Amino acid sequence: MTRCDVAIIGAGPYGLSAAAHLRTVRGLDVHTFGEPMSFWQRNMPLGMLLRSGWAASHIPDPNQSLTLEAYRAASRHHFSTPVPLDRFVDYGLWYQRQAAPDLDRRKIARVEADAKGFRLTLEIGEAVLARRVVVAAGIGSFAWRPPQFAALPNSLASHTSEHRDFQRFAGKQVLVIGSGQSALESAALLYESGAEVEVVARGRQINWLGGLVSRTIQHGLGSRVSKLLYAPTDVGPAGISQIVARPDLVRRFPRPAQDWLRKRSIRPAGARWLVSRLQNVPIKLGRSIISASPLGERARVRLDDGSDRTIDHVFLGTGYRVDVSKYEFLAPELAKSISRFQGYPRLSEGFETSVPKLHILGAPAVWSFGPLMQFVVGTHYASGSLLRFIAGKAVGNQVPVSGPLVAELG
Ligand SMILES: Cc1cc2nc3c(=O)[nH]c(=O)nc-3n(C[C@H](O)[C@H](O)[C@H](O)COP(=O)(O)OP(=O)(O)OC[C@H]3O[C@@H](n4cnc5c(N)ncnc54)[C@H](O)[C@@H]3O)c2cc1C
Repeated sequence: MTRCDVAIIGAGPYGLSAAAHLRTVRGLDVHTFGEPMSFWQRNMPLGMLLRSGWAASHIPDPNQSLTLEAYRAASRHHFSTPVPLDRFVDYGLWYQRQAAPDLDRRKIARVEADAKGFRLTLEIGEAVLARRVVVAAGIGSFAWRPPQFAALPNSLASHTSEHRDFQRFAGKQVLVIGSGQSALESAALLYESGAEVEVVARGRQINWLGGLVSRTIQHGLGSRVSKLLYAPTDVGPAGISQIVARPDLVRRFPRPAQDWLRKRSIRPAGARWLVSRLQNVPIKLGRSIISASPLGERARVRLDDGSDRTIDHVFLGTGYRVDVSKYEFLAPELAKSISRFQGYPRLSEGFETSVPKLHILGAPAVWSFGPLMQFVVGTHYASGSLLRFIAGKAVGNQVPVSGPLVAELG
């Protein structure tokens, strides 16, 4: 049976960056599992543009050499911001080839606690024993389907993450639910694919990123004031952006303040470059769906203003609700023993759960480390923190850290 010191589950930005950082701990045997960048390749729409800016879209590595600029130079693809999805996926694969070349693409089917750590069962039945496990499995398991749509089969109502190519909706009537980036960008792409689209959202207004306030600050008040109010992490509004860019600071706030910072920073919002692409798409705001049922081959949807629609398909741009017990690979007893709040694990230093040596990175860490963790830019903090924690333990066992991070580890 294979044994390792650390098993990383997931090869998206968080898993890859964690792998790159932990490789610097000499003598630490790290195995990384998962299809690299698979969520970005399979669950995001063709033609999508990244909402995060250039500086917030690097996947960090300890030598700071695997940046988007380095990839652009190496690949000779000319692109800038907004970063196109296909370029970002290719960047992630380029990063993986260098930072985690020995990645094991197989899926982990089961993780169970074992006397000496954890027993991981691969989908083909082989087992791996790991002393420590880092879960970096993303949000794919948390796609939220509101109960009002329970009566509709998947052929009539599906989550935005289930679609890659929108061409099959050409000539169809499609209702998009939601006013976040996924909903709005799906509506634009559906319209551009020839569908007849309407957007319905509960919010009374759409929060456009880079709105009047931020544009006035950024252009009117000059770059110095702008830099004071907005961190390069690109998460959160003026002022708040600087606070949430510092997860160590966020953790010191009382719980209600942390919750407020989180809500202010990751409320549904759309990138400004979507405004012109949506000018011919009707958007009904301040309305909820009260019922939805099949009507022959189509769906009938009733709104709370008494109106109804009969359409070909409903696109649920209804986001994701973190609940780590929905990670199917976590054995139920193990999932149960993770201390949680509303589905989020309570994490301590080094992103460790209440189960010793079990760590969780990415969006599930938002409750403990703030809104940065929902985005690629959070990998800088997460990987550094994980490395310091694990290397600190490893140093106790005479496993030294090599490379430029020795100084940082102090
Ligand atoms: C439509 C959309 C647009 C977005 N745009 C942006 C953006 O512009 N900028 C930004 O910063 N963020 C964006 N995000 C958020 C983005 O999803 C996260 O920032 C990022 O994916 C987090 O990386 P991750 O490594 O945690 O998860 P993921 O990228 O989802 O990676 C998880 C990995 O885990 C693997 N995995 C899962 N289960 C297993 C298993 N059992 N065994 C082995 N491997 C497993 C998967 O195959 C996958 O490779 C967007 C999200 C959506 C839905």
